[in-house]
Amino acid sequence: MFEVLYVTFWSHVKHGFFLIRYTLKSKFEKRAGWATLLLMSQTLLVKNCRPWGKASQDILVKDGLINSITPAGSTAVNAGQIIDAENQLIFPGLVNAHAHIDKNLIGQPWHRNELPGATIRDLVDYERKIQLEKGLSTRVQSQKDVEASIAAGTTHIRTHIDIDPEIGLTGFEGVLGTKAAFEDRLTMQTVAFPQRGMLIYPGTIELLEEALKMGADAIGGLDPSTVDRDPAQHINVVFDMAVKHGVEVDIHLHEPGMLGAFSVELIIERTKALGMQGLVTISHVFCLGMIDEAYLDRLIEQLLENDISIMSLGSGRGEFPPLKKLADAGIRLCTGTDGVRDTWGPYNYVDILERVKLMGYRSGFRRDEDVEMLLNVATYGGAAVMKDGSYGLEVGKAADFVIVPGEAPTQAVVELKPRSYVIKRGRVVAKDGELMAG
Ligand SMILES: [Zn+2]
Repeated sequence: MFEVLYVTFWSHVKHGFFLIRYTLKSKFEKRAGWATLLLMSQTLLVKNCRPWGKASQDILVKDGLINSITPAGSTAVNAGQIIDAENQLIFPGLVNAHAHIDKNLIGQPWHRNELPGATIRDLVDYERKIQLEKGLSTRVQSQKDVEASIAAGTTHIRTHIDIDPEIGLTGFEGVLGTKAAFEDRLTMQTVAFPQRGMLIYPGTIELLEEALKMGADAIGGLDPSTVDRDPAQHINVVFDMAVKHGVEVDIHLHEPGMLGAFSVELIIERTKALGMQGLVTISHVFCLGMIDEAYLDRLIEQLLENDISIMSLGSGRGEFPPLKKLADAGIRLCTGTDGVRDTWGPYNYVDILERVKLMGYRSGFRRDEDVEMLLNVATYGGAAVMKDGSYGLEVGKAADFVIVPGEAPTQAVVELKPRSYVIKRGRVVAKDGELMAG
């Protein structure tokens, strides 16, 4: 137990913060260090920035919120910190609404992938084998993912975390540690996720419940038929936990064609029966790209009625949901990186703009407006799924921005240049593609 011995103030009022020298003392040691204390009236002016490629604006930020957005140069403002964006693009922070930050190999020697097969069971078993061999710390690896993500412009992450009797809650606890360490630089939601199956793996349900008690924001599920082989029971258990703990549902659904569509129907039924409209996301849902048009239209109608969100990455193999059709229908869409630098495959990385590019490429989009629709999915769509009411490039919203070189949004998606600035709650957290010191 430390007690504060003394502090000396080092005033930096002009830059909006105090630098404090502190000395702590315990029975055994004395420790000194520096800390920063933000002033309540901290202001930041981002001048000459072009929201979504439109006319140049000045954005004034006060206490982490957007105070005004005015035509560039129209107001004289005396701000604590000024950034000249030099007419670059500005977007609200990128939203990674589907990650697995507990399982990456970032910073480790390149893993030569020797997957024995391509079923979910093959992927999951191989992943666990390599993880146990390497003995990596989830706390350390999840931080590496978060640091690389922030540097690439991500301000929000929803991450699914493996929970099962073999590893218990160690992965979950590691991610919670990272969430706490980055709480002022990243908005994070956690999903308690039965990656290795739930009903087929005794002890998993109890651990998922424990994670929900420890603060998980959502309960996950996985392929109710092909993994757990009891779709109704799987979905009942997941939804019952959600109701009991007052959390959202986010289910991984890789099942193909009619089998997957049947799971979608069951999820819709439970959502409706329990009044969980607006609180359910189905991730991947490849089946929506495999069923006939008339059936798809019926499902879209029911998804809309029950306000169920769809997460898609524009999967690298086979079919995936028709994103334009779903967006046009009004379905809330989000996207994410899924696992990055992991044993599932070599392609995924942390850049959400790159994900937009891949989705557009796989969707065969050519027109700027279609790419911009996907960019909207990767920003506003994800923030809506994460229920962040403070999100957006509007007065009164949180100052979460990414500033990127380019004339037009689609150009930023195609060229993937390093992010000039990433700003979280009015504070620069990354510059020129590099994370700022914490
Ligand atoms: Zn996933």
